[in-house]
Amino acid sequence: MRLTVLGSSASQPGAGDASSSYLVTGGRRRRDRVLLDCGSGIVGNLLQHTALSELSAIFVSHMHPDHYIDLIAMRYGLRYGDGRSRPLDVYLPPGGRDQLQAVSEAISKTQPFFEGALNIHEYEPEAPLTVGDLTVRPFRVVHGIPSHGMPWTTDGRAWSTRPTPSFVPSSRLPPLVRTCSLPRPPSEVALPTTTTRGRTCLRLRPVRSRCARA
Ligand SMILES: [Zn+2]
Repeated sequence: MRLTVLGSSASQPGAGDASSSYLVTGGRRRRDRVLLDCGSGIVGNLLQHTALSELSAIFVSHMHPDHYIDLIAMRYGLRYGDGRSRPLDVYLPPGGRDQLQAVSEAISKTQPFFEGALNIHEYEPEAPLTVGDLTVRPFRVVHGIPSHGMPWTTDGRAWSTRPTPSFVPSSRLPPLVRTCSLPRPPSEVALPTTTTRGRTCLRLRPVRSRCARA
C-alpha cells in the first residue's frame, strides 16, 4: 500500500502546498486508488499521479471546506474532461450530503449539480466499507465538528498512521489516519511497517496537526 501526500495545509493553502488530501493506492497490482479528503487546490496535484478516471472512490473525513471543497473542481473535470464511464463514488460523513448540496446550489443553477460525475453517499461511523481490495472503517475522532479517522485494511493487514495529540480516537480502535498531520508534499511515501499487536501498522511521524476550525 502506498500513501501519496497531495496536500497537507489547513484552511488556507500554503505556498506550493494545497489543503488536505491523500491518495491511498493498494490492492492487487495497486489498482485501488482511494482519495482521502479533497481540499482546496488538490486536483492539479492529483493529476500528477493519476487520471480522475482511475480513482476508485473518495472519502471525506469531515465537512470543513479544506477537506471537501475541491469536489467542485472534481465535478467539472469528470463531467467535461475526463471521460469516466460511470460516476465516481464519494463518501461523506453523516449530514455531508445536505451541506454539499447547499454549496452546489449557491454556486450553480445547474441542478442536480453532481449528476453524472459524482455519486454522493454518506458513511456510518464504525461501519466497514469496501472499495476493491481495500476496506475502511471510519471512526469518530475529537475535532470541532464530527470528524473521522480512516484505518485501512487489505489482505488482513491494517494500515494507518499514529494519532497526534490534537486528534484522539474516541474508542479503542487501530491508530488513525489523521489527515491534518502528515508531511508536506511533494512526497510520495512508501509506508514502512511495524508489527503491533499482530497488526502491520504504518509509522509516519506527524509534522503538523493544524486543521480548519470554520
Ligand atoms: Zn477540520
